[in-house]
Amino acid sequence: VFQLSVPLSFLGSVYRELRQSLLDMETLFNLQKVNVAVKEPDKPKALQLTRGGEIKFENVTFGYHKDRPIIRNLDLIIPAGKKVAIVGPSGCGKSTILRLLFRFYDVQDGRILIDDQDIREVSLQSLREAIGVVPQDTPLFNNTIEHNIRYGNLNATSEEVRNAAKRARVHEIIDSLPDGYGTMVGERGMMISGGEKQRLAVSRLILKDPPLLFFDEATSALDTYTEQSLLQNINSILKEKARTSVFVAHRLRTIFDSDKIIVLQGGHVAESGTHSELVEAGGVYSELWHAQETSLGENVDAALAEQIS
Ligand code: ATP
Repeated sequence: VFQLSVPLSFLGSVYRELRQSLLDMETLFNLQKVNVAVKEPDKPKALQLTRGGEIKFENVTFGYHKDRPIIRNLDLIIPAGKKVAIVGPSGCGKSTILRLLFRFYDVQDGRILIDDQDIREVSLQSLREAIGVVPQDTPLFNNTIEHNIRYGNLNATSEEVRNAAKRARVHEIIDSLPDGYGTMVGERGMMISGGEKQRLAVSRLILKDPPLLFFDEATSALDTYTEQSLLQNINSILKEKARTSVFVAHRLRTIFDSDKIIVLQGGHVAESGTHSELVEAGGVYSELWHAQETSLGENVDAALAEQIS
């Protein structure tokens, strides 16, 4: 057994190396593909956030395949300095809206404006520097936790890295690891949970401190208590700095305090307003809210019953 285990573990490490280089290639390939999909304007100007970061979709149509539009004649406004949520059934195009804003793809019709500048007319670099995203699944580098957070701002001091992790509610976990911030993560490092990964992504974003912040199901892997306390911290940062933010979420409890909620359906806006306006209106949102609240109530009841028995 001993004789066999040596070559096997050796093979294991070769396999891991190989798998990692394939993963790296895939990432590179995706990035290249993304860069090919959109073109830098002939005379790129830097994006100027002269009005605090107002986002406007004007009559936008887009589909990954030309003949199958995902978004149709979409008009929407995300006011400067406000927190806006986009909700709607799975596959209705919520994440696509964020990808279009980041210019991973260009619209087929209509235009997207940030502070009245068509995003196709500004340099890609200035656009992407202005935006920070916490995606559904954050890639981690095969490096230390510290490096993974600092990626948000390479000039950040160790103290700034730790402060960001504190606000993202992950500092205590990192601090309790034997190697602390020096712990290796990623494919070749320690396995970390989905919720920890999400909080590292939030730390990275806090450190980047961009004027426009997008959260795509950014806290979905967290338990309700941790999620609420992280969201409170995020909200206070957004308020403090009057940042424009867009939250894509399924669980309405996480976004009901937004300044504006946009309900997408079939590629266009079904309704929009504040939580109380939408509940009052008695439409799709109201139905969804009541359905989620009821199932939440049942879950709580079930958990209580389990504790008592
Ligand atoms: P969810 O709530 O499940 O995350 P979503 O509303 O964010 O969904 P999108 O991810 O925007 O939905 O996807 C919208 C539609 O576009 C879906 O039907 C999806 O299958 C399709 N789609 C997404 N990405 C691509 C792609 N790269 N190529 C082709 N089709 C895609």
